[in-house]
Amino acid sequence: MTTDQPAARCAHFVLVPLMAQGHTIPIVDMAHFLARHGAHVTFLTTPLNALRIDAIIQRAGASGLAIDFVSLPFPCADAGLPVGCENLDALPSPSRDYLPNFLRACDMLRAPLWRTSAGTLCSELRRLRRLATILHQEGVYVRVTDESEILDVPGFPHPLRVPMAKAPGTCLGPKQEHLRLRIMEEEAMADGAGVNTFDDIEAVYVESYQKMIGKRVWTVGPLCLCNRDATHMIARGNKAAIDVSQYLRWLDSMAPTSVIYVSFGSLVTAGVEQIVEIGMALEAAGFPFVWVIKTGDRLAIEVDRWLAESGLEERTRKRGLVIRGWAPQIMILSHPAAGGFLTHCGWNSTLEGICSGLPMVTWPHFGDQHMNQKVVVEVLRIGVAVGGGSAKWGDENSGTVVRREKIEKAVRELMGGGEEAEARRERARELGEKAKRAMEGGGSSYQNLSRLIQQFQAEAE
Ligand code: UDP
Repeated sequence: MTTDQPAARCAHFVLVPLMAQGHTIPIVDMAHFLARHGAHVTFLTTPLNALRIDAIIQRAGASGLAIDFVSLPFPCADAGLPVGCENLDALPSPSRDYLPNFLRACDMLRAPLWRTSAGTLCSELRRLRRLATILHQEGVYVRVTDESEILDVPGFPHPLRVPMAKAPGTCLGPKQEHLRLRIMEEEAMADGAGVNTFDDIEAVYVESYQKMIGKRVWTVGPLCLCNRDATHMIARGNKAAIDVSQYLRWLDSMAPTSVIYVSFGSLVTAGVEQIVEIGMALEAAGFPFVWVIKTGDRLAIEVDRWLAESGLEERTRKRGLVIRGWAPQIMILSHPAAGGFLTHCGWNSTLEGICSGLPMVTWPHFGDQHMNQKVVVEVLRIGVAVGGGSAKWGDENSGTVVRREKIEKAVRELMGGGEEAEARRERARELGEKAKRAMEGGGSSYQNLSRLIQQFQAEAE
């Protein structure tokens, strides 16, 4: 972004993220983006989530941005959740079993939320809603019980066939159909939708979604580009599990575009067998790597033991870094040494890879990640699919293990030489430039945000 001129002085936005890092992080970015454009922002959180974004809260206060962080008690006990489960990543494993209670607790925030924010726009960022909306309208979530059934999605901008198990929205099982209905009702009442994407990558889908809902859709991303310097990048999300300066020195010592960054976001936790396969593949592929490992509480000790006993870290000491816990992801991805990204295709990670101009090995697990892979591999042509079994959300033992040979092959294809790999790199580089332009003054997302603020400013007057 080049200018921060206020577009309006008192449009007021209340931002209510789902309590999960993949939602909180971009909504925090959105809060900054709006406030830098002169809007007043109220950001809803809960006590433990507020602690996790404390650095961000302090920074917003110090910079004088008009962002109020309001913390509402999260009703763990009333919803049947263990104390302290205020975030999806804090649910005990298998977290899938606790999802209905977590959603109930979120739903119970409704009354205190409306007391806090009556009459103001509540914005939740959405993407690929068109597909989920069509599937809902067609009654698919209730009708189809066989996960392998192939759906022909009607009314999509191009023919689209997806197995039920890979369709967005299926994280909410049949028992949570009442919640899906509530979400759809809320969407029907909304004035429009703000979407964390940019026109260069999916204008055709945005346009058709806009037509379908008959309301304005504002593309306002990639929001991760709101983080301009290292301090902002490090403060994003949780506290890093590493000494950041030490890792930066390590990255500085690596050749440009030589390192593959491997991470599966904030929620995917792999089983031990799968972790062993990934480790062996990274060793065999021979490229420098940064590998972020997250495990559920049940498996942490086993994974640590394997890491210690396998000798992998010792053998790859000169070219490999393993991070157990939270990594400063966008800092690593935007470092000149980064040359590729093995990702689970969470939408934030996908955008962050795009913004850094990186080609990606795609390995989706659940929810919209399967559709995001399609965008990366088939539409943008900047990805290599690892292909293979993926666990269900919240249960690391539910998928089939992807073997090391497959992973190694995909990594070599991405990071190695050859015409195809170079062309993929070039496309990724160009997209990275387009993403930056979209968020700069005069860029499509920058302008959309200004218009969004103006619209609500006009209505407020
Ligand atoms: N993230 C991070 N460090 C980590 C893991 C995740 O900074 O060790 C950030 C990542 O940059 C992204 C978000 O957490 O912004 C994860 O969101 P995404 O949509 O990619 O996946 P989810 O966690 O929702 O599956």
